[in-house]
Amino acid sequence: MKSASLNSGATDGSLVDVVRGGYCVGCGACAAVADPPVAMKFDRFARYTPERVSAARGTASEQVCPFLAGPNEDVLAAQQFGELGGGHDARLGWYQGLYAGHALERRHRDEGSSGGLTSWLLAELLHRGLVTGVIHVRPLEENGRPRFAYTVSTSIDMVAANAKTRYYPVEMSEVMAHVRATPGRYVFVGVPCYVKAVRRLMRDDAVLKERIVYALSLFCGHMKSGRFAESLAWQMGAKPDDWKTVDFRRKLSDRPASSYGFAVQPHDGAAESVTPMGKLEGYDWGMGVFRLSACDYCDDVVGETADASFGDAWLPAYVNDSAGTSLVIVRHPELQQLFVEAGRDGRIALDASSVDDMVKSQDASFRHRRTGLAYRLWLKDKKGQWRPTKRVQADASHVVPIYRLIFRYRMFMSWSSHLVFAIARDMKMLPVYTLYVRVLARLNKSLVGLSRSPRFSRRG
Ligand SMILES: Cc1cc2nc3c(=O)[nH]c(=O)nc-3n(C[C@H](O)[C@H](O)[C@H](O)COP(=O)(O)OP(=O)(O)OC[C@H]3O[C@@H](n4cnc5c(N)ncnc54)[C@H](O)[C@@H]3O)c2cc1C
Ligand code: SF4
Ligand code: SF4
Repeated sequence: MKSASLNSGATDGSLVDVVRGGYCVGCGACAAVADPPVAMKFDRFARYTPERVSAARGTASEQVCPFLAGPNEDVLAAQQFGELGGGHDARLGWYQGLYAGHALERRHRDEGSSGGLTSWLLAELLHRGLVTGVIHVRPLEENGRPRFAYTVSTSIDMVAANAKTRYYPVEMSEVMAHVRATPGRYVFVGVPCYVKAVRRLMRDDAVLKERIVYALSLFCGHMKSGRFAESLAWQMGAKPDDWKTVDFRRKLSDRPASSYGFAVQPHDGAAESVTPMGKLEGYDWGMGVFRLSACDYCDDVVGETADASFGDAWLPAYVNDSAGTSLVIVRHPELQQLFVEAGRDGRIALDASSVDDMVKSQDASFRHRRTGLAYRLWLKDKKGQWRPTKRVQADASHVVPIYRLIFRYRMFMSWSSHLVFAIARDMKMLPVYTLYVRVLARLNKSLVGLSRSPRFSRRG
């Protein structure tokens, strides 16, 4: 793998290049600047995109976009944490502490996706008066779209009610307008590119800089369009637009933590239904159905610019505990102290972890976002198309032919899943989608099988 902070190949682009090129993740940062020239819309593929973008250069919106030129993750993280000492790893960024553990207080572990340490920390920050509001994601239970949105929680009960991972697009412009209008001390929670965008927003915005006192990240494999939720709910009998809410991460007590369930709550008061995710078409995270195309051009897996990052400890020592265990990378010294104290006082269970374990737990993501990204950037350069500057250099020389095929096939699976589901939805015929995904999965399995054979995995 070649990794570097500087890269040729790409040139500075504009918001139009980001949106037209399929690099927009829909974060809403460009619409979260003061007096925004753009507004976010939820499109027909259930993704957020900005409206009214222009090719104008040097605008505030352009400065904050995580896919445009400006300080990258290395620079932003060095500004935040570089002077603090501690450890550093090229894949995890700076760190004061690396842990695996779970919450013992309240019901954060039961109510969370993994060990509930994200919600535990958010509650602890509120409890100690270190923040007055938590910017995170809540379900919207009204009919229609979207189904989840950023919100501000101001009590521990609200934090608990809004726990759980939401594999669903959200945008930050509305909640940032609220933060601007409402004095307080806030903690922001987001996936890595959102935290990067918030760091960039805070650079030029004195109000946000003063009010957002911590930023936390979730590790991130990729983001799905809103159709992912619909596709799973539909397979369980709830037609699109005909359910109240879903839970992507229902813990199943008789299975490992990685074999979680999917739950659908219908609108009509009927009982909630729960199915192991592995029984639903499109569950395989490696296939990347409904993946946003921007995620194919991302090189931050753990949220290197965040004060603390949280992931799933699907490692041999923890995965068989169905109650769930969190991985935590702590970068901010005050948060490090909170974790150490709470571990010592028996309020959370905390084991020291290692760089190797953290990286091993996200092995597939690092492969996709290092080797795979280098190859995808090379493909873009070969076609002479604009693409964002990344910390990984465009390169195909290290990718054997079978992996080239796999990386291309993965892009095809994501791209085509959006289209085929739209057709199935218009025709009101779910099998159009499920049969298609079954065929995709079979071919994917064959390709992965071939890649493991010595005959195909050698350099050509
Ligand atoms: C799109 C996505 C992809 C992910 N991919 C990986 C991965 O590849 N590997 C991995 O180890 N972990 C991944 N995670 C993180 C993982 O699913 C858990 O969220 C994490 O381990 C924290 O668990 P917890 O029990 O500590 O969190 P909880 O206590 O359940 O709290 C989760 C917090 O995150 C907030 N939240 C949920 N969804 C979002 C969202 N979309 N945007 C912003 N805030 C949100 C909630 O409101 C809540 O405050 C991903 C999360 C998301 C949203
Ligand atoms: S990635 Fe975010 S900031 Fe960039 S264009 Fe899309 S919504 Fe705007
Ligand atoms: S994979 Fe990267 S670009 Fe996609 S949502 Fe996650 S952090 Fe953002």
